[in-house]
Amino acid sequence: MKITFLGAAKTVTGSCFHIETDTCNFLVDCGMFQGSSADEAHNHSPFPFNPGRLDFMILTHAHIDHSGRIPKLYTDGFKGLIYATKATADLCAIMLPDSGHIQEFENEWVNRKRERAGLPPVKPLYTTQDAIDCIRLFNSVHYFEEIRINDQIRVRFNDAGHILGSSIVEIWVKENNRETKLVFTGDLGNNNMPILRDPSIIDSADYLFIESTYGNRNHLNVENKIDRFVEIITSTMEKGGNIIIPSFAVGRTQEILYELFKQREKYGERLTHLLEIPVYVDSPLAVSATKVFRNNLDCYDEEAREYIENGDNPLDFPGLRFTQSADESKALNDSKESLIIISASGMCEAGRIKHHLKHNLWRKESSIVFVGFQAEGTLGRRLVDGAKKVRIFGEEISVNARVEMIEGFSGHADRDGLIRWIKAIRHKPGKIFLVHGEEDSMKEFSESIYDELGIGTVIPDRGESFMITAAGVSTTDIAAVPQQKKERYAFKRLEIVSMLDKLKDELDEASSIIRDDLRTEKEDIELDELMNKLHKFEKYIVDIIR
Ligand SMILES: [Zn+2]
Repeated sequence: MKITFLGAAKTVTGSCFHIETDTCNFLVDCGMFQGSSADEAHNHSPFPFNPGRLDFMILTHAHIDHSGRIPKLYTDGFKGLIYATKATADLCAIMLPDSGHIQEFENEWVNRKRERAGLPPVKPLYTTQDAIDCIRLFNSVHYFEEIRINDQIRVRFNDAGHILGSSIVEIWVKENNRETKLVFTGDLGNNNMPILRDPSIIDSADYLFIESTYGNRNHLNVENKIDRFVEIITSTMEKGGNIIIPSFAVGRTQEILYELFKQREKYGERLTHLLEIPVYVDSPLAVSATKVFRNNLDCYDEEAREYIENGDNPLDFPGLRFTQSADESKALNDSKESLIIISASGMCEAGRIKHHLKHNLWRKESSIVFVGFQAEGTLGRRLVDGAKKVRIFGEEISVNARVEMIEGFSGHADRDGLIRWIKAIRHKPGKIFLVHGEEDSMKEFSESIYDELGIGTVIPDRGESFMITAAGVSTTDIAAVPQQKKERYAFKRLEIVSMLDKLKDELDEASSIIRDDLRTEKEDIELDELMNKLHKFEKYIVDIIR
């Protein structure tokens, strides 16, 4: 079979892998490229295959960098089934239309700019309606259940412990009566994540496709992160301020709610503040995502299930409120009592969080608590880095509030976690493909894998294809058949031509030196030596040309 890496190759977004066997072809993930405008431009490129001829698709989890181009795949002609867990399908049913809404909104802005420049309007990547329409292609599957897709292909979804519904997918492909097993980790979570079960251990793999976001880093030891969280809440309440938590709507918000619930149970008697403070989730997407969490209890870990069995719902405690409308959101700024406000976006680049920052950053009584990674160049990063003044909605705001970053709420396994997970595979893969990571991280991770497990790795480029064959093969059996084979060979030819040109220049120089030497007297022995060397060189060149 042939596998082509169409995204998440030496980068962390745009996950998409195209697999062609002798009888069918399918995708694993169809994610959106995010980040710089150059990255995002890839989203608009046509798919390098005919979407109408894809047989089916497998989705590891709902995050937009894994699912975000599904509506485009649909409008471009794909009408096959999308296999995903029920929780993933439920989350996509809210996240993809939300993404469609963002596409339309941003496109309007682009078109206003184009109109002023006298250019014709362009279409959005897809619309909210396209996203709603593609949801009917989803075919929900259960964890740990083997599904026979056709005579050649079986799949099984296992827990990945990354977000609700996230999966490690095992795929068995039968070709010429031999079966090859591929394992895609999707994004791999940490052990002991709130709500979610730990990533499943896989028994065997012929080829492993593993994420490597934290391939060269370990998370800080964060044993006291929750104690710090509780301390910030109580001391802010004593000062009469608000606690503002910028958070991604899906996943992190629910983890924070769960931790708050747990701490209320644990410290509530002693720290009555914790029981008194109202908690607002102020992001329409977070509100619907929390509903999806409440409707997929089968994904919960033992601890979370225990709460449910005792009649509690950790994502629904007294004092927890959800705001839908913009007016409800604005009304929070007039509150006289202390509030915890959890709002998106997590890096403060857009959304209602900006209003809450505007109303709280200047107040020394309030606290801003970051619980996720803040990328370079974002408002969140400037605040974490200690900015004294920031601009929000064109207004300069002084930063007087307490700004804290609580590390340790990561959805990704770190280096040691990834290595431990591979070590636990009983029948180790013959080859490991590294995806979903920055190149530096991948290179170091690749070395770690080789040093600790003796398994060779491949770091594919975007657009690169590989032929892979039946079980237990060696490096040489992986024949690189790059799509850009032609370009690559053309490039190599040019390289050879330039090497020959350089050689020619050096020979010209040598010949002019010898010519000059005709006028001087030289020892014969030196000339004989030179003559010998040139004979050898001539023979060598003739061999190369042959
Ligand atoms: Zn993810």
